[in-house]
Amino acid sequence: MAAHAPARAEISRLAELVRGAGSVVALTGAGISVPSGIPDFRSPGSGLWETVDPMRVAHIDAFRSDPARFWRFYGERFATLGAKQPNGAHRALVAMEATGMLEAVITQNIDMLHRKAGAHDPIEVHGSIASCRCPCCAGSVPLEQVRLRLQGEPDGVPRCKKCLGPLKPEVVLFGELLPEGALRRARELCEGADLLLCIGSSLEVHPVAGLALLTHAAGGTVAIITRGPTPLDELAGVRLRGDVVDELQALAGALGLG
Ligand code: ZN
Repeated sequence: MAAHAPARAEISRLAELVRGAGSVVALTGAGISVPSGIPDFRSPGSGLWETVDPMRVAHIDAFRSDPARFWRFYGERFATLGAKQPNGAHRALVAMEATGMLEAVITQNIDMLHRKAGAHDPIEVHGSIASCRCPCCAGSVPLEQVRLRLQGEPDGVPRCKKCLGPLKPEVVLFGELLPEGALRRARELCEGADLLLCIGSSLEVHPVAGLALLTHAAGGTVAIITRGPTPLDELAGVRLRGDVVDELQALAGALGLG
C-alpha cells in the first residue's frame, strides 16, 4: 500500500550490499507466506488459529495422547497448506539464488513454498508438511500418500503400513526440539553471512532471533524486511517496511533480475 511503498534509496543500498557481500543468506518467517494466503497465526483475525490454541492442539503431547483429535485439526491444516502456491517474494529469492547472489534460504515456515518456488535445498528449521514419519519404526511417508491415508481411515488418522502406528507430521510441534542438523547448518550460515536478509519474521521466535544476532555479532549486516516492528530493529543495517512481495521484487529489479 501507499503508506509503505518500497523506499528507493534503501532498496539501492540493499542491492549494493548484496553485490558487495561474499555470502548472502535469507531467513524467512510467516510474513513471506501471507501473500500466498497463509495467515500468520500470531496475527489477529487469522481464521484457523482463532478458534483453537495452537499450543494445545499442535503439541506433541496432544499427538501422543489423542492422535484422532490431533489429526482432526492437523488434517485440515495439511489440506489447506498443500494447495497454496509461492508468491513473487519466494520467486525473487530463487532468482537471486540462481545467479549466485544468494547462498541459502533458512525458513521457519512448514508450508513448502520455498521448495515449490524452486529454492535449492531450503533449510526448514521447523520441518515441513512434505512428509510424515512413523514414531515407532521411523518409516517416512510423503504428503500425497498421507492425504490418501487420511481420507481412507475411519478415524481420520493416517497410519504406518508396517506397524499401524499413527503417523506424525515431520513438522516441529510445540514441546519438540528443533532438528539438530538443520539448526547447525543455519547457525553456520548465519555466522558466515556478510548479509542476512530477514524477511517476514517478527524475530521474536527462537531460533530465528538468535540467528540474526549471530550474523550481527560476527560483523555481518542484518537487513530486516517486514511490516511490523521487531526487537532487532535497532541493529538493522537496512530496514524495509513495505509489502514483502513489493520489496523483494524491487530488490530483484535493482539487482538486474527483474
Ligand atoms: Zn511404523
